[in-house]
Amino acid sequence: MATTSAAMDGVAAAAFQSVIQRVQQAAERSGRRGPQQVRVVAVSKTKPVSLIRQLPEDIEWHFIGNLQSNKAKALLAGVPNLAMVESVDDEKIANQLDRVVASIGRKPLKVLVQVNTSGEESKFGVEPSGCVELAKHVSLGCPNLEFCGLMTIGMLDYSSTPENFKIEMGSTNVRIGSTIFGAREYPKKQSN
Ligand SMILES: *Cc1c(COP(=O)(O)O)cnc(C)c1O
Repeated sequence: MATTSAAMDGVAAAAFQSVIQRVQQAAERSGRRGPQQVRVVAVSKTKPVSLIRQLPEDIEWHFIGNLQSNKAKALLAGVPNLAMVESVDDEKIANQLDRVVASIGRKPLKVLVQVNTSGEESKFGVEPSGCVELAKHVSLGCPNLEFCGLMTIGMLDYSSTPENFKIEMGSTNVRIGSTIFGAREYPKKQSN
């Protein structure tokens, strides 16, 4: 049965409220205060544009995922209220973002350095051993970027590494997708 966009919006809004509440409870349990507050990033992924089009104009967009340096300009030009790029994983993309921000004259762009902590080949991110150097490069060598911390992606098999997903471990930025928007819909995937 087809679900109307409006109905999906309602479901997503309720799920989002519930996620916010659970994150707040976890933050309180672990005694977070002020700047250690936790931000929830709602990951829309494959959801239809109609679902996210009705969002307020002052929404802050975060870019996650692999960004090719030749797409940096299109990203920054196309999304004026881009608040953060969470997936800077080498000097090349950092330099490119830095240049594009300077060339379009917008305010400094917040970035996270993505670190491949799970060791999985499939994951992007700088190796942990190269993380400090890249963070230094962004902080000292990219005046138009604002280094805001690290980003990691947990192991898929999180039952063996539950600490990957516990915000009590100190996360201040939590990305949540399917819990808010429902299961991802990829065109070729068979539904059961
Ligand atoms: C898809 C995605 C998420 C959200 O994953 P869910 O399992 O749907 O919550 C978070 N972070 C990144 C980098 C993603 O690609």
